[in-house]
Parts: sequence; structure tokens; C-alpha cells
Amino acid sequence: MRQAIVAANWKMNGSKAQVAELLSGFKSGIQNKAAQVVVFSPAVFLADVQAQLQGSTIAWGGQNAHTADSGAYTGETSLGMLKEFGCTYVLVGHSERRTLFGEDDALVAAKVKAALDAGVTPMLCIGETLEQREAGVTGDVCRRQLQAVLDVVGVDGFRQLVVAYEPVWAIGTGKTASPQQAQDVHAELREFLAKADANMAEKIQILYGGSVKAASAAELFAMPDIDGGLVGGASLLVEEFVGICNAAA
Ligand code: 13P
Repeated sequence: MRQAIVAANWKMNGSKAQVAELLSGFKSGIQNKAAQVVVFSPAVFLADVQAQLQGSTIAWGGQNAHTADSGAYTGETSLGMLKEFGCTYVLVGHSERRTLFGEDDALVAAKVKAALDAGVTPMLCIGETLEQREAGVTGDVCRRQLQAVLDVVGVDGFRQLVVAYEPVWAIGTGKTASPQQAQDVHAELREFLAKADANMAEKIQILYGGSVKAASAAELFAMPDIDGGLVGGASLLVEEFVGICNAAA
């Protein structure tokens, strides 16, 4: 039995006041004890997030990290810094990082390795663009993205990470993949991972992301291979995100 994870990715949104309001709403509204809730905050708010979530059941993480421990990397954040602010998770390979900031499979794999080495759980994001889906290469793209990381961290690395399948065409567009569309890809990914190791594939949590809303969450999470969600826009609204968390079994 895989524990569900529901994660908020605030992206580059929020303010100190909004962070306080969201977190207080999450803490009082989330009744679901079965799911692990995680908040991915902009790095500048991590001290606030830590102060407000410490002692709660909600975990938190950074949206990105550099592979190096420290050095001349202006504007970057190290995994050690994230850890100092209590982060137990880090997002790696989000499609916005891949497309807008030029992160390729090799860099994503290096970041996953660095996170594992630092003892921070990577949430590895993968997914196809609309063009790729229409060309019928969804499976190929996702398998390539997984294989690049598998080559570097191996099966043992995959035992310690979480995968988030986020079709790029569903991110921020209001177009959620149908529960069956998402399930089909999740099942295919698990099957692919089972070729490397059946036990790891059975245990690994694969989350769905892309326009998840309170109204669509229960149906998505009821699918056998969908182990929770990675939520963007709806995680900036207390009622929506609380609804999504409470929908996870
Ligand atoms: P939306 O929920 O806004 O579509 O964003 C999904 C996402 O990118 C989460 O990482």
C-alpha cells in the first residue's frame, strides 16, 4: 500500500502575508491523516514556512536546488541551505525548469543524485508536451526522462524518490488529463520501472499534476496507479487545496 502525497507547488507566487494565510488555512482545514501533504515554497519564504509548519504533519521543500554544496553560482540555492530550513523534499525537473531554464535530462539526473546524496527526497517531474502527445510519443518521452535518472541513481535511488507525472499541456491550462488518460500513463511508467525492479516499481509513489482541482481530485486519486497530486494554481487557494488533500485516500 503506497501512501498518498498531495503537494502544493506555489511556483513564483505569494507574499509573506499570503504564505501565513495559506498555511494557517491548510493547518486548520486538512483533516486527512492518510496523505502526506508537502508545500513547495519559493526559497525566500522558507524561513516563514519552517516557523509555521514546524511540529505539524505538513512537510515542505524547495522548488529547485543546485548540485554543488556552495560556490560562485549567483542566484542559486544549495541543498544544504534547503535542509537548514527544514526542507525534506525538493522538486527536480519541473517542466518549467526544463523549458524556461534549459534543464536537460543530464542536469535533472545530476540534481536528483545531489538531492539523494544530501538526504533530501527528490520529487522528479516528467511529462510530455501537447505536440509529443499528438505525435503518439508520450510513453517514449516519459521513459526517456525516467531512464536518464535511472542511469545515474539506479534502482536504489528510485527507492528513495517520488515521481510526478505532469503532462505539459495540462499545466496551468485548465485541461486536466482525464483520470483514465492519467492512469494509462501511470500504469505504463510503473510497468517500465518494473523492468528495472518489480519491488521498487510496486512501492514508488507516482503523483499526477496538471490543473488538479478539488472537483477533479477524488476521481484522479481513485485510480490504482495514481498516488496523489502535485498542485499548482489550486494550491494558492485554501479551500481548493484543502479539498484536494481531503480527497486523497
Ligand atoms: P497547475 O495545477 O496550475 O496546472 O500546475 C501544475 C504544476 O505544474 C504543479 O507542479
